Amino acid sequence: MLVVMKPQATPEEIQAVCEQIQLLGFRAHPMPGAQRTAIGITGNNGAVDQENLEELSGVAEVIRVSKPYKLVSRDVKQEDTVIAFAGTNATIGGRDLAVIAGPCSIESREQAFAVAEQIARTGAQFFRGGAYKPRTSPYAFQGMGEEGLKIMAEIRDVFGLRIVTEALDNESLDLVADYADVVQIGARNMQNFSLLKRAGRARKPVLLKRGMSATLDELLMAAEYVMSEGNYQVILCERGVRTFADHTRNTLDLSIVPAVRRLSHLPIIVDPSHGTGKRNMVLPLARAAAAVGADGLMIEVHHQPDKALSDGAQSLYPEQFVELMDEISLIAAAVHRSLPRGITVAEPTTAWRR
Ligand code: PEP
Ligand code: MN
Repeated sequence: MLVVMKPQATPEEIQAVCEQIQLLGFRAHPMPGAQRTAIGITGNNGAVDQENLEELSGVAEVIRVSKPYKLVSRDVKQEDTVIAFAGTNATIGGRDLAVIAGPCSIESREQAFAVAEQIARTGAQFFRGGAYKPRTSPYAFQGMGEEGLKIMAEIRDVFGLRIVTEALDNESLDLVADYADVVQIGARNMQNFSLLKRAGRARKPVLLKRGMSATLDELLMAAEYVMSEGNYQVILCERGVRTFADHTRNTLDLSIVPAVRRLSHLPIIVDPSHGTGKRNMVLPLARAAAAVGADGLMIEVHHQPDKALSDGAQSLYPEQFVELMDEISLIAAAVHRSLPRGITVAEPTTAWRR
């Protein structure tokens, strides 16, 4: 159920409707838009008494949402969601493309700083690196844990780059959220519903990767889990799905980008690194992702890919990343987007330190 407020509805009227929804025992999710505010209702198993709400002051209409997802839907919010990073010029979801780049794993301070320096110099605004790694083998490198998070917090202080890193489980999510600017939920956890709910209670944006065999609806429902807990800052990420094709690690499904944009107001980025598993395919698929309308890219970069402890074969050399950024700038302009180069930080970021 969705309560659509009149364009001229006052904050007090919106508040009164939210209170009424809560009195009925449900949860109210006000979603301000450019034209009007819509209020999503969750927690109701059946129909909500529609007439009661329709009579409240400032209400334009009450509509039943037929789709299984509500808060992710464009029915609730027509304008694209733009996630801003306070004190910086970085955004995800607006006209500017967001580029998140860095190694698969944080392996040491030296390695992380060597890559971060190149990423910052090339002008990306976000640095990625795994401190907790979901590895197929329990004997493979599992990540540096909190030590890795501390290294990334230092990278933010030194280079201004905003940090994107994965939370693997409920136990570590709050710790990851303390250090990160964006908490990543990986493909293997896309339907870990308790983790999604936990991420929904975090106060940082969540980057939700598509599960390796997830449909569009399943991806949107996973995002709905996060939003239903009150965290509306969700970024979707296409990273390839499993198919019969074996010339790539995964099959990058770029058609999901326009499909998501039609149904949802949430930003969607593309990860051609995990999507192909092959360094030589990252640039061509990154070009395609920008052309198809993605809101950003996630790119694995390593200063010594042959020595990487994970995903070396799909990691770009720093000079290839420079080439990628230059080409994506050109493509962005052709599709009426832009690629900002460099992050500006208004104030020192030491406040982020624990
Ligand atoms: C990653 O980003 O390093 C990662 C493990 O991604 P995914 O969950 O898409 O496999
Ligand atoms: Mn990886």
